[in-house]
Amino acid sequence: MAPRVAIIGAGFGGLCMAIQLERAGIGSYTVFEKADDLGGTWRDNSYPGAGCDIPSHLYSYSFEKYASWTRRYPGQPEILEYLEHCAGKYGVKEKIRFGTEVRSAVFDGSHWEVTCTTGAPETYDVVVMGVGQLNRPHLPEISGMSDFEGTSFHSARWNHDHDLTGRRVAVIGNGSSAAQFIPRVAERAEQLTVFQRTPNWVIPKPDALFGPLTKLAFHLVPGLQRAYREWIYRYAEGTLYPALAQGWSAGMLKKRALDHLHAQVADPELRAKLTPDYPPGCKRVVIDSSFYPALTRPNVDVVTDPIVRITAKGVETVKGLREVDTIVYGTGFRSTEFLAPMDVAGRGGTSLRERWKGGAEAYLGISVPDFPNLFMLYGPNTNLGHNSIIFMLECQVNHIMACLPHLSEQGPIEVRPEVMAAWNRQLEASMARMVWGNGCRSWYKTAEGRVTNNWPGPTTLYRRLTSRAPRPAYRPVRGTAD
Ligand code: NAP
Repeated sequence: MAPRVAIIGAGFGGLCMAIQLERAGIGSYTVFEKADDLGGTWRDNSYPGAGCDIPSHLYSYSFEKYASWTRRYPGQPEILEYLEHCAGKYGVKEKIRFGTEVRSAVFDGSHWEVTCTTGAPETYDVVVMGVGQLNRPHLPEISGMSDFEGTSFHSARWNHDHDLTGRRVAVIGNGSSAAQFIPRVAERAEQLTVFQRTPNWVIPKPDALFGPLTKLAFHLVPGLQRAYREWIYRYAEGTLYPALAQGWSAGMLKKRALDHLHAQVADPELRAKLTPDYPPGCKRVVIDSSFYPALTRPNVDVVTDPIVRITAKGVETVKGLREVDTIVYGTGFRSTEFLAPMDVAGRGGTSLRERWKGGAEAYLGISVPDFPNLFMLYGPNTNLGHNSIIFMLECQVNHIMACLPHLSEQGPIEVRPEVMAAWNRQLEASMARMVWGNGCRSWYKTAEGRVTNNWPGPTTLYRRLTSRAPRPAYRPVRGTAD
């Protein structure tokens, strides 16, 4: 009998899982989605200028080529259209239960009981978590935030009803999201103050519209999309990954970023403020060509003085108050709190939150001992700073699909504790050569400095590891002590 599968989240990951189940003829699944629409992070992040800095042909499923991309780097609306297209084409949309938030998943010894904020608990054989790493906005703890009398919102909860024309706007944060919306805000606002705590390394984004002939060629020439995708993938893997591993291209990446800064920012004082003092890649490199020019506009100010508090009238730094009527928090996400706020209990009532209190970890970023038939997409240590997450998601879905026949034969299966321990040792050894530990704060790490979010190897290795027959790494839970 086909397993009953609960998929939580209808973003890129959850939809990929649902599509592969459909393609395998397994229709016994439900996708739980707390929002009223699909798309995950691409639904939530609708800020002006939202888009992806990974090229369209790679930031898409390998099995679903799309000749309709209008530009080299997709904008958020286009990515959502692509996901709608995939969900419609593969017939998964009708299996999505919108407006249904999962509160808990509890393993009862043989099945998972899934409880939502509304309705009765439901029983499933398998649970696949597809909730992502960047799904819960992080608001900073700055005193006085609630005293502010103007309008404030987080970049992932953009207030589209609030017209920024002629406003005095403060933006707190300058990561990849802020770098995309700052140029748009700067065009409208009377005055924009960007509060920067740490500068980022920025490299150019050579975006371009695809002309009619290029689009026609992508449509008609057999193998062209595949070849283009492969070229982008190989380039990222061959040049960017070695830079993150502090290898041969690290100097090249730094030079590219410094050249970009010099080409776009003439003022030495501003340039100095924007020059990081840590190696490129330690934090996510920003890929954008319109961020620096926006910062050089006469109505834009970059403030690096530490923020002391927010008052009714604006943002106060150690140098004084900046009066504003709007504050936009581009302050990122609660990225290390994987699966929160869901309660997940495995064998013997083991709490996943408790298990992960020192930092989240999972075999291949997918499975955790004592949590049988529970699988994760974009789980711990599967984020990338150099290539497409969609590639990683597909590897994870392939692994889960390969596990399904075993659990049908053997009942619930879990990853062996010794496999998990060996995985952690390998991860730690590989992590040591990566740039992320080197003197910077980032969303890749817990407060204690453990990198719980990023994959420290080449993605070719991840594909190899996830495509190995899963059986030796797992054991049936029947017969093991509960
Ligand atoms: P982020 O990279 O985590 O940046 C958060 C920003 O807020 C940082 O500049 C941070 O400063 C600042 N900040 C946080 N707390 C603060 C505080 N208390 N006081 C002052 N500043 C504070 O978040 P994000 O820009 O939303 O991006 C998150 C990730 O989403 C990216 O790294 C990327 O992986 C993904 N993303 C991707 C794309 C794409 O095109 N593919 C686009 C957008 C986002 P510090 O640096 O000092 O901590």
